[in-house]
Amino acid sequence: MRIGIPRALLYYYYYPLWKTFFEKLGCEVVISGKTTIDLLDKGIKASVSEICVPIKILNGHVLELLEAGVDYIFLPRMMSIRKGQFFCPKFMGLPDMVRYSLPGAKEKVLFPNIKSLSDDISDEKLYYDMGKTLGVTDKDVRESLSGARKVWNKFRSFSKKGYTALEAMEYVLEGKLPEKQAEDIGVTIGLMGYVYDVYDDLVSMGIVDRLRNMGVKVMTFEMMDETMLDRELDHMKKRLFWTFSNKLLGAGYRFLKDEGIDGIIHVTAFGCGPDSLIGKLMEIDSEEYGKPFMTIRVDEHTGENHLQTRIEAFVDMIYRKKTKCIKEA
Ligand code: SF4
Repeated sequence: MRIGIPRALLYYYYYPLWKTFFEKLGCEVVISGKTTIDLLDKGIKASVSEICVPIKILNGHVLELLEAGVDYIFLPRMMSIRKGQFFCPKFMGLPDMVRYSLPGAKEKVLFPNIKSLSDDISDEKLYYDMGKTLGVTDKDVRESLSGARKVWNKFRSFSKKGYTALEAMEYVLEGKLPEKQAEDIGVTIGLMGYVYDVYDDLVSMGIVDRLRNMGVKVMTFEMMDETMLDRELDHMKKRLFWTFSNKLLGAGYRFLKDEGIDGIIHVTAFGCGPDSLIGKLMEIDSEEYGKPFMTIRVDEHTGENHLQTRIEAFVDMIYRKKTKCIKEA
């Protein structure tokens, strides 16, 4: 049986878990290709215009998997991974949106409801119903998840050593160790952004590699401990409703306080409601901390040259300020 997994949204956080799980059940896993302009165009045509760019991209990936003739497409309904917090509503409505708007998708989407108290979503009870659709036993589901959980934990531990989600995936799934960064100019940037924005090269235009090629070190929220991210929000009267937005904001506040972080870049996709709130909070607080902060808002038409110029100017400003301070000291 061929199970399609779109290379979009939480693919960048849970793929090692899902791939291992399905493979242990004896399925063949098919992932869609990297996001291209053509794929984005197809996604745009299949989406309502006001929806955010990452969902348009997701639609493009689902269409590609449908064209590839997979038996099922795995698109879980991500509800909650924290008590009293939820995923952005677009995640919760995603299976319905896809099933009723993309021709041929209705019978093919597998959508277990994911509700958990932590980032670990490998509780077998969440997947038993889906197992029945696939014709496997509860025992098969349990045993496959047990192996998948180990792989995912290894993936997360590796990320927390300072590797990007893509590097950690390559390491746990292919045994490939990341290459060492060639140059280091002594500048570290805290990069705020959802994994599906930061690691999709069409959305972020390869921002991690661009920064590293300039000799800049990069820190993202998945490289940090979840408890620490949560603690960073203790001063707020209440948390935001959306867990991944809380993770981003927690990382942002850590970056503001951490003297090892020289500046913050927030990558956000056009049409994201939660990000407009986070961006504003960071804009206000970064002034108070005197830390350079820049927002990169990407839409369907953002040009690469424009992005490169902005990043270079931002890094250059930080580098000059830093080297001037060192000389004066
Ligand atoms: S958090 Fe923002 S970018 Fe992500 S799905 Fe929701 S609206 Fe879209």
